[in-house]
Amino acid sequence: MKYLLSTCFALVAATAGLFAQNTTANHIRAFATADSLVAPLWYLASDALRGRGYNTPELDTAAAYIAACFKKAGVKPVAGANGYYQPFNGVTQTPVAGAHAAIDTITLTTGENALQLNYTDVHLDVPFLYAGEAAVLSRATLAVKGKAVAVTFGNDVPLQKLITDLYTLQEQLAEKEAAALVAILPAGNTAWPRLKSQATRQHVQNPLHTSQLPVLLVQLPAESAKQAETATRFRASITGTVVKTARIKNVLGVVEGTDPLLKNEYIMLSSHYDHLGTGKPQMEEGKLDSIYNGARDNATGTTAVIAAARYFAKHPPKRSVIFATYTAEEQGLIGSRYYSIHPLVPLKSTVYNLNIDNASYNDTSLITLVALGRTTADSLISQGVAAYGLRLGNDPTGGRLFTGSDNYPLAMQGVPAPTFSLGMKTFDSTITNRYHRLSDEPGNMHMAYVCRFIRAYILAASNIANAPQAPRWANGDPLEGAWKALYKRE
Ligand SMILES: [Zn+2]
Repeated sequence: MKYLLSTCFALVAATAGLFAQNTTANHIRAFATADSLVAPLWYLASDALRGRGYNTPELDTAAAYIAACFKKAGVKPVAGANGYYQPFNGVTQTPVAGAHAAIDTITLTTGENALQLNYTDVHLDVPFLYAGEAAVLSRATLAVKGKAVAVTFGNDVPLQKLITDLYTLQEQLAEKEAAALVAILPAGNTAWPRLKSQATRQHVQNPLHTSQLPVLLVQLPAESAKQAETATRFRASITGTVVKTARIKNVLGVVEGTDPLLKNEYIMLSSHYDHLGTGKPQMEEGKLDSIYNGARDNATGTTAVIAAARYFAKHPPKRSVIFATYTAEEQGLIGSRYYSIHPLVPLKSTVYNLNIDNASYNDTSLITLVALGRTTADSLISQGVAAYGLRLGNDPTGGRLFTGSDNYPLAMQGVPAPTFSLGMKTFDSTITNRYHRLSDEPGNMHMAYVCRFIRAYILAASNIANAPQAPRWANGDPLEGAWKALYKRE
């Protein structure tokens, strides 16, 4: 009897929930016409904004436009922001090629067998200490002060792990006042070609890694690597690093929730508004073009966040909602990384982040959710999507997209944070032919699908913002521990 009764209640509750969702779905259909819904997409991806490139006047124009949309919608600035802006310094560094360093008599040349992780001028003539394998150093208690400390990595260390480990070691060594970190990779290391192509380009400094301790990655043939194990002196003379600072900004707004208790919990809806700017004129799809309009990536996401701001300002949910459009995602998630260490609303009050980013799409009946199955919001999101005739599918790259967008910095802090994307049934040439290509333009998009995408996003967000319990990382997820630590949960 008890069992039956609770089943009945559950059924009533579920029906009531679905009824509420149907009402909301109708509100979301009615609050804006299709044309007004996608108007920001046409504007942000127009040639006038010249691809919203890093540190361009057009990127500022895009920011001003988003702020004006927030203001018109009745969305409030977030306390602690400068109006709708969160300004900060982007630091661009250009590496020096052809500069020299040496481990005893082993000659190193930047851009060739030596790469800098952080681009700084380096003048050193210091003792050299070979510490063995990288994994050993973090546990060892060596006297490293004033020394260039060298570690080795195996042949098959994945690029991402290598870089994460280097930053960790850099911090540890900086704390112990070492002079430099030298990472020795064997000749033929699989990560080297990609490292080299990244480390010989200008880049924007990752706001999470601002340590000035020089880190040099060197690739040595077996014989020299052996010789380095007993070397005693390290010298480096790397000068002429070009460092430029630009004022860039995230654009944010907030709608306060209606529930006296739940309004202290925030759902964050995010996207990046920058893209790649302009490039060399090239023929693409029979058209000579030089503007990376970034219609899918990510004028579409920004348009959806603006639409959500318009909707929630009129129909506030129980929880509060932060709308975050980030800058400089294409430079390495710079805006979201900055926000993750300088949040305007404490991250422990930010219970969920539904980010949007897009490569392209090849299935207009689908929404791709990067991190599907990893948070307990799946059913809330899939119900929202189903109301517009769409279904939810997983990241077709098997999870690789997870680390490549603005959901990632908050996720690493423990905030449940998937990315909501246009439908990709496979990550094949139909996607890569548009992804970061000149032809990513609004004119070749299926606008009726884009409208469904936007409405589905708003309904999914509404379901999360009104749910009795905030969703979390799933049991056993690699980020469950970070979630427990952030929200002080067991
Ligand atoms: Zn993007």
